[in-house]
Amino acid sequence: MSNVLETPIEFLKGVGPQRGALLRSELEIHKYGDLLQLFPNRHIDRTRYYKINELVNSNAEVQVVGRIIHIKTVQMGKTKSRLVATFIDDTGEMELVWFQGHKWIRESLKLNTTYVVFGKINQYGATFSMAHPEMELLEEHKASLRSAMQPVYPSTEKLANKGISNRAVVKMMQQLFIETGTNFGETLPAYLLDELKLIPKNEALFNIHFPKSQDLLLKAQFRLKFEELFFIQLQLITKNLVRKHKIKGMPFTQVGETFNTFYTQHLPFPLTNAQKRVIKEIRNDLGSNAQMNRLLQGDVGSGKTIVALMSILLAKDNGYQSCLMAPTEILAIQHYNGIMELAKNSNLNIQLLTGSTKTADRKIIHEQLEEGQVDVLIGTHALLEDKVKFANLGLAVIDEQHKFGVEQRSKLWKKNDIPPHVLVMTATPIPRTLAMSLYGDLDISVIDELPAGRKPIQTVHRYDNNRLKVWKFLKDEIAKGRQVYIVYPLIQESEKMDYKDLMDGYESISRDFPLPQYALSIVHGKMKPADKEAEMKRFIEGKTQIMVATTVIEVGVNVPNASVMVIESAERFGLSQLHQLRGRVGRGAEQSYCILMTGHKLSQESKTRLETMCATNDGFEIAEVDLKLRGPGDIMGTQQSGVLNLQIADLVKDKDILQLARSYAIRLLKSDPAMEQPQHQTLKQIFFELSRKKNIWNYIS
Ligand code: ADP
Ligand code: MG
Repeated sequence: MSNVLETPIEFLKGVGPQRGALLRSELEIHKYGDLLQLFPNRHIDRTRYYKINELVNSNAEVQVVGRIIHIKTVQMGKTKSRLVATFIDDTGEMELVWFQGHKWIRESLKLNTTYVVFGKINQYGATFSMAHPEMELLEEHKASLRSAMQPVYPSTEKLANKGISNRAVVKMMQQLFIETGTNFGETLPAYLLDELKLIPKNEALFNIHFPKSQDLLLKAQFRLKFEELFFIQLQLITKNLVRKHKIKGMPFTQVGETFNTFYTQHLPFPLTNAQKRVIKEIRNDLGSNAQMNRLLQGDVGSGKTIVALMSILLAKDNGYQSCLMAPTEILAIQHYNGIMELAKNSNLNIQLLTGSTKTADRKIIHEQLEEGQVDVLIGTHALLEDKVKFANLGLAVIDEQHKFGVEQRSKLWKKNDIPPHVLVMTATPIPRTLAMSLYGDLDISVIDELPAGRKPIQTVHRYDNNRLKVWKFLKDEIAKGRQVYIVYPLIQESEKMDYKDLMDGYESISRDFPLPQYALSIVHGKMKPADKEAEMKRFIEGKTQIMVATTVIEVGVNVPNASVMVIESAERFGLSQLHQLRGRVGRGAEQSYCILMTGHKLSQESKTRLETMCATNDGFEIAEVDLKLRGPGDIMGTQQSGVLNLQIADLVKDKDILQLARSYAIRLLKSDPAMEQPQHQTLKQIFFELSRKKNIWNYIS
């Protein structure tokens, strides 16, 4: 690549030290190459010139050719005034207006000289006007290198205040293309350009700034987005390959007795196609020589547990122990009960270990574990303690991924000389695009199909003043034998208020649903684990009809008879949280409902969240909306607050291009893993430059 791109920015004609310093501090533009990569946010289509009699009050930005015949200052109140110029063409007249900078503007404007003016149209009475128009002499307009489509660059307040307007940036960019001769060198192999019909790099760079047409702009964007995502994918995939190469796994070579017997005789229900596919993917991994590191995504209720169990059976068949770790005690217990039930005919020694396991029992478990008598250990963080030693841990299943950090994953790795295979299960559907971009070190399986016969949950939004009707509905459902969750928000910052809300709510619910006809459970974070447990148990056993809770029930609990989820102050929950909560119902055969309660004051964003919840049950769709509303950083939670700092591509909008880039990157690395072929030499060079300067993790701010 030509060295000219390394030239310090202040050397560009028209920049100089002062502007150079500003560009450095405000836009991180240090060199010619950085400026070149300052891509426009949008373009203004200036392919068309309007006549004054064609103007409409559309609020659009348009350009008009004409001349000024008169300029006057109009007083507005005591201190303010505006400058008004009468601007005409051969079809009529309009006004150009300035509220600031009168003196300078007045001096520089030329009467009876043809200008191209550009700006937003306003209408006052019969007169059209344009405030603070961009003005250019027709002569200059024609002579400028600028194409018909004008770039609008990302700018900062400070830049604009210091006189680096968009126009100034445009000028710099033009200068850059002049000085460099628009000669930057191709970065992608010719066969890729051919196959994907990508325009050459030089053409793309020119047209991204100064497109000669809409069509060329689109082609330029496509080419540059593809390139950006392609190089990221090359890095991610290489990283993944290196891991697989370096970390030897324990090959589970056989599918044996335990698995086969379960599969042929004890399956409690036919597996969905998605479950079958995922089990196959896992089996392939486990049977290979590499360590499995797989993320299993599946919406709530999609049936991840049985997939976990069948992986565990494979481990058993190959003489290995497994563990299953869940983020809360309640969940761990549910898993324990669920797996015990599923595996009741499978002759497995399954143990539960949590913070509340009694010391005496704990000791026994530790011993049996080390001696290899325990096949499956299910539990919470307690599994991570140093005292917990396995004889030969072959598989670690982690449920509800987003609650565990990367360090915890790696702690599990160290439980064995050779790291065990890892299966991470998450019910937070991370949009595939994000998952592919952020979890480059994990392979991904998706259960994208719910078991047959599930009735979609009906979701409605109700205002607080309709509470009586909602309560009536709950009573009808309870009369049919159903159970109900009523959930209150618990947000750390306002914890005190939230507990007060919860307790006030609980009291009024107790009044509206009195004993002996109704029995209530309550669970919240301040209760002792044993008390929580007891309350949950009463609800699970159907001894209470209503569970009043804070979001502690968010993860995983399974009470198929619960068919109504009421979420109080629903506007305070994020989309993925709402979806998780809703997933607590709809687990049985009955029609289930989710009722989102709010007051009348709602922000636009809250409205969008509520509407989305009412419109769809699809976790992936919801995750996409969430991604748009919040940006990728928040979705991942704080521990992985990764935002990809992409230059031009957009993970949400450009997911198709991402997919394409990924498939081509995979293909390339399959055919030429070390990028040794002649046609990959440039690519290889850029790849290493990028990896050095911008390791993939640097994309994640
Ligand atoms: P999640 O993915 O949320 O962990 P679970 O594994 O808890 O889901 O499964 C949810 C419910 O669906 C359980 O009651 C389970 O028995 C049931 N289930 C799972 N797979 C199937 C299937 N293929 N057919 C019918 N029911 C299924
Ligand atoms: Mg689950």
